[in-house]
Amino acid sequence: MTRRHLTLGAIALLLGIWGFLPEFTITMLNYIGLYALVAVGLVMLTGVGGMTSFGQAAFVGLGAYATAWFCTAPAAAALVGLAPGSALLPWIGLLVGLAMSAAVAWFLGSVTLRLSGHYLPLGTIAWGLSLYFLFGNLEFLGGHTGMAGLPALSVGAIELRSVRELGLLTWTVLLLTLWGLHNLLDSREGRAIRSLKTGRVMAESMGVDTARYRIKVFVLAALLASLSGWMYAHLQRFVNPTPFNLNIGIEYLFMAVVGGAGHLWGAVLGAALITLMKQYLQDILPSLLGSSGNFEVIVFGLLMLLVLQRFPEGLWPSLAVRVNRHLNPQAATRSGAIHQLAERTLPAKGSVVLGATAVSKRFGGLLANNNVNLDVRAGEVHALIGPNGAGKSTFFNMISGVDDPSSGVVSLLGRDMKNQPSRAFAAGGLGRTFQHVRLLGTRSVLDNVALGAHQRGQRGWLAAMLRLDRAEESALMQEARRQIERCGLGAHVHEATGSLALGQQRVVEIARALTGQPSVLLLDEPAAGLRHLEKQALARLLTQLRDEGLAILVVEHDMEFVMNIADRITVLEFGQVIAHGTPAEVQVNPAVLAAYLGGADGELAA
Ligand code: ADP
Ligand code: MG
Repeated sequence: MTRRHLTLGAIALLLGIWGFLPEFTITMLNYIGLYALVAVGLVMLTGVGGMTSFGQAAFVGLGAYATAWFCTAPAAAALVGLAPGSALLPWIGLLVGLAMSAAVAWFLGSVTLRLSGHYLPLGTIAWGLSLYFLFGNLEFLGGHTGMAGLPALSVGAIELRSVRELGLLTWTVLLLTLWGLHNLLDSREGRAIRSLKTGRVMAESMGVDTARYRIKVFVLAALLASLSGWMYAHLQRFVNPTPFNLNIGIEYLFMAVVGGAGHLWGAVLGAALITLMKQYLQDILPSLLGSSGNFEVIVFGLLMLLVLQRFPEGLWPSLAVRVNRHLNPQAATRSGAIHQLAERTLPAKGSVVLGATAVSKRFGGLLANNNVNLDVRAGEVHALIGPNGAGKSTFFNMISGVDDPSSGVVSLLGRDMKNQPSRAFAAGGLGRTFQHVRLLGTRSVLDNVALGAHQRGQRGWLAAMLRLDRAEESALMQEARRQIERCGLGAHVHEATGSLALGQQRVVEIARALTGQPSVLLLDEPAAGLRHLEKQALARLLTQLRDEGLAILVVEHDMEFVMNIADRITVLEFGQVIAHGTPAEVQVNPAVLAAYLGGADGELAA
């Protein structure tokens, strides 16, 4: 039995007993489904994307109020040219609710998400508070008493009058959502989304527009909340502001976190636990402690703390480990269709791929790079060396788009890259690794390496959710595997990168860069922390890549390593180029020997 069999079996079982479950159970299931829909949006946002929102309840409210207004106010019906009571009105309400939620989320996201840190959570708190008070104060939305008399939903000719019927819709929508999100996460776009949480600088260098992805995830979560609010309104047949206030927004966040913030099914588990627990506490606490205080809030908070203390990753992962032991691993689905990835024509050997002309960088009074000229040609390894603090990393950042020069020109394949972000460098054919390895440690080598091919695919979110991207995805995976094998990590394809040795992790970064089919490869201290044999293997790999026509720039400390592999060397000191030439020339250059004090009989002599 695989996970898919288990899931389908559970769904079939639920469907089979649906007609026989008691009314109360069905009602609880209905609420759990509605809450889980909101919580799964938060899982995407918080657990996967690394952003926090306290304001999801307000999006639920938007969805609920939009349909309530269209269904009950004659003026609203007239506005869209329908007779009051038309069965189409709830659907108009749904569309308007979704559109408004998307617009608010997009606006909030674009003003807060481009900034760093706590702006989004703060923005969502402000939004949650203000919408709650707005609902309560708007006369045409019924003020604090709310709006009653919402019609039952009807899908085609079927009217969903009872909780039992509506519950089927709720759970169908929830399960389809889970399926779509699961597919999304298992795709090129999903890899980009997963990189938002910890690897934004890295993801940008792989060509991912992280600000845009963050906004899109936020809009997605808002849409799911709004959809839940729409169904909630037609379940209750009545709306008032109370269920949409900030407290409830925090409860939704609890559901996502307690269930397992990074796991889609954790949202369902969290929603179920919290809904049932609240119900239970409301029943038993008054009989134990008297009905004078809201004790359930306190007990509830304490229980949450306990759970999070004991299971910081949420409950789902522990549950999944136990269940997975009894399941067979799932066979990867393969697409039969052939897909050709975008290919780049590599520049001719010897031509300049990346060039810096008179590049300077000033940090306040410090001139970290002073008038640096350097070019990297196809089919050569160019090494940039210099003592600590010479300005190597500063230069590296400027030629990879992480930082802008104060003056001077950086050009990639003849194009002036002024004011371009690092993802434009990636698009132009620059691949890079990081001095401090930046990998998603819990994801597999294959997953990490495939992110490097981000810009070679095109299929979007919807295609991924509907599994229309399979041909492209298997081509990307095949390319990632090819590069992993070429770099000698074929035996580790499915291992989590966090469990590899540092040397292997550095090679994973190289494979990731190669998957983007770069014309030039930048390596920041690739030999740091490697053992002797690992260095030799790395040198062999780089030599092979150079022979294939790649332009390679290495910033490195290890002299022996550099002298071994470099065709040309540029030496920096105090931000200035003090020497340039072949390894043999540089080794005997007096300025270089002086810079590496004691180097004449030390490092350089090697
Ligand atoms: P290297 O990589 O060769 O060791 P760096 O490029 O990191 O040298 O640093 C060159 C000089 O620039 C150092 O004196 C460093 O303190 C300074 N520097 C680097 N980055 C910044 C920054 N963001 N703000 C101010 N000074 C910086
Ligand atoms: Mg450095």
